[in-house]
Amino acid sequence: MNKIGLHAFVWAGDWEEKSILRAANNTADLGYDILEIPSLKPTALKVDFTRKALEQANIGATMSLGLDQDTDISSGDPEKTKRGEQRLMQAVAAARDMGSTHICGILYSAFQKYFVPPSKAGIERAVDVLKRVCEEAERSDITIGLEVVNRYETNVLNTGAQAVELCKRIGAANVKVHLDTYHMNIEEADFERTILEVGDYLGYVHMGESHRGYLGSGSIDFPSVFRGLAKANYQGPITFESFSSTITGQPLTGILAVWRNLWDDGEDLSKHAIEFIQTHRKAAYETMSIRSSFDL
Ligand code: MN
Repeated sequence: MNKIGLHAFVWAGDWEEKSILRAANNTADLGYDILEIPSLKPTALKVDFTRKALEQANIGATMSLGLDQDTDISSGDPEKTKRGEQRLMQAVAAARDMGSTHICGILYSAFQKYFVPPSKAGIERAVDVLKRVCEEAERSDITIGLEVVNRYETNVLNTGAQAVELCKRIGAANVKVHLDTYHMNIEEADFERTILEVGDYLGYVHMGESHRGYLGSGSIDFPSVFRGLAKANYQGPITFESFSSTITGQPLTGILAVWRNLWDDGEDLSKHAIEFIQTHRKAAYETMSIRSSFDL
């Protein structure tokens, strides 16, 4: 059974002690299994305090991050690549110390709009770095999830098929594809088919609406998403992700382009999201059983 997670930006945009406790406790109280901790600066995470807060709330953790222009391992620039590798290794150390099972997000390029396509040499450098990062993560049983995002947020991985290809080139058992319905809605032809094509490479899923607000209030075909997950027998985490500029703050508001807010009550939003995920998952498995009963 999938663990259901919640992105901490539903609660707080900083990682001060008060916010850590609020995020861990509220997420657990709503019935979620996992808190996804955004880590744009892994060294700034209060790992000991966070680990204790998670233990006290009896909730698991995953970590997400995106590299930036200065740490872009796909840039082909040796200095940026070196700083990027360092950032990713810091993330692995922080994840290990907090007890996080996954590191996901834009781990292969900067999290930004590009104006030129990626270069072959840049991708080769990124693959080399990610091989070493996966090896280090493997020692602590951490899965690396390469998030496929839309064309305005990277020039490297825009489709599930591209991410499977990159995983094959990295060649590590713990590197997986991280799909996000918000981005899939922009780039993929079909939710169910994409999920089935990624298949066993799928290791992490973000549930996000087309406008990143309440699940079900936009244009994403969630029955297709959940049918794909059920048919693929996907057992990994499913995490709800939503952003409001009342919480994110800069520079994230700008990178994500949150120019209008779709919610101001993170608790109501998250309570609805877990019920939505559970209901759709149940419906997808029921759909599968109806189909197979016709074959008897
Ligand atoms: Mn995402």
